[in-house]
Amino acid sequence: MARPLGESHKRFLQTMMVNGIIDGAKARALHRHCCETHGAHYAHDKLDEFIEVINAQLQPMFMQIRKGMSEEDGLQYHALVSDTNTINSKFFYYYNHHELLLYFLLSSSPVQVNMAETDVTRMSTDYADNELELFRKTMDLIVDSDNGTASSTDILNCADSLQTKKLKKRETEHVLNRLVQDKWLNEKNGDYSLSTRCIMEMEQYIRMLYQDQVKVCHICHNVALQCQMCENPTCGIKIHTPCVARYFKGRTDPRCPACEDFWPHEIPDMYRSPSSQSETQSAAKENTAPTPRSTAQTRRTRRS
Ligand SMILES: [Zn+2]
Ligand SMILES: [Zn+2]
Repeated sequence: MARPLGESHKRFLQTMMVNGIIDGAKARALHRHCCETHGAHYAHDKLDEFIEVINAQLQPMFMQIRKGMSEEDGLQYHALVSDTNTINSKFFYYYNHHELLLYFLLSSSPVQVNMAETDVTRMSTDYADNELELFRKTMDLIVDSDNGTASSTDILNCADSLQTKKLKKRETEHVLNRLVQDKWLNEKNGDYSLSTRCIMEMEQYIRMLYQDQVKVCHICHNVALQCQMCENPTCGIKIHTPCVARYFKGRTDPRCPACEDFWPHEIPDMYRSPSSQSETQSAAKENTAPTPRSTAQTRRTRRS
């Protein structure tokens, strides 16, 4: 039997519900904050075990808190995601995380664990069919691209040929804004990429659906979208930009780890390892949306 959630676990989960995704340093600070607030035993190296207790309770609802690396800043994040291993077939029926989890939190303690799958599927969906089709087409463009992005122009062209129901330009822009707001997509200068949370949640699905196109990073073995690619045509391995930065750090003669050809791309240096992130720098701020993008921007500004 899964251990019932203590008040400290519930507070942690509640903050995850509000934020959707937080970086590793924030997660560690939040762990401490939740334990101290509720007088629960705290050990700094027990965050994984702490999250396992929550995940055991989330499992019947096909949700989990998962760890993953951001393709943009290379930091490790914790995200509250659907467990796509069990709900692959329902890919497009995203239920509203918040609604589902509020139900979960408000239900009597110990948490009701017999919520049937049918109850989950009956939950309201966030997007209309043509909006989901647009998202799917955007994903196609992103996975098909060399750099893991799709331009707004290309997405707008897709919107004109949707099978479910065409979207006008303004409607498309509105849907794209919502997808960014709901943290499915990131947007930078009119180019869209899949958000860290989206990739974490959809990794299994992306591997299944795009098995011929998608490659995994040669270094970390996760799906690689925003990455650099070996230019040797018989090799062509991909490495995430942050993984490139870490792997080639300090090497004067960068060579492909697979074929040993010269690595012709610029080696970025704006990534810090997650462990060098000071915990005091990012104290747990409950109910505060994370700002991974603005952090990355600051770093880039500093570099130039
Ligand atoms: Zn990688
Ligand atoms: Zn190579």
